[in-house]
Amino acid sequence: MARRRPRPARGRPAAPDDTIRPRFWEDVPLPEMTKAEWEALCDGCGKCCLNKLEDADTGEVAFTRIACRLLDGESCRCGQYEIRKALVPECVVLTPANLPDIAYWMPRSCAYRVLYEGGRLAPWHPLVSGDPESVHRAGISVRGWTVPEFEVPQEDWEDHIIDEEP
Ligand code: SF4
Ligand code: SF4
Repeated sequence: MARRRPRPARGRPAAPDDTIRPRFWEDVPLPEMTKAEWEALCDGCGKCCLNKLEDADTGEVAFTRIACRLLDGESCRCGQYEIRKALVPECVVLTPANLPDIAYWMPRSCAYRVLYEGGRLAPWHPLVSGDPESVHRAGISVRGWTVPEFEVPQEDWEDHIIDEEP
């Protein structure tokens, strides 16, 4: 079967994978972002690396302050980003294809969820501010308040539920 050719972004030619076009987040649809743009969209908050608990009856999802073992609690970055999937098999690698299934349990501030839901990036987003520290200064990131998962037995994670609503 013939594969559909991807549509070019509105008013913009298709670009090589390592290209980051000026203000791409304003008008390039998520599936048409280059690999580099897709990666750059992450605000570095680290919230998606917090463990979540799902109520088996209601399906309700709650975030905890218990972080994945690979998360650096100060930089809010994955300690082994390139090989994360091999080290943490349950880590979900976000792609344009799986975003529709995953967006509902991503943090509300997550740039991927915001754009997927038709919103705009906030002024504290590093792409908008031009400063990677702005996400931390705005109090959006998990800097300084996570607990590594190896320090707390899983049966006690419920004691560490935080207010963040997915
Ligand atoms: S929640 Fe979204 S923006 Fe924040 S670190 Fe995770 S993928 Fe990046
Ligand atoms: S493996 Fe890395 S990216 Fe995945 S949840 Fe853990 S810290 Fe986050």
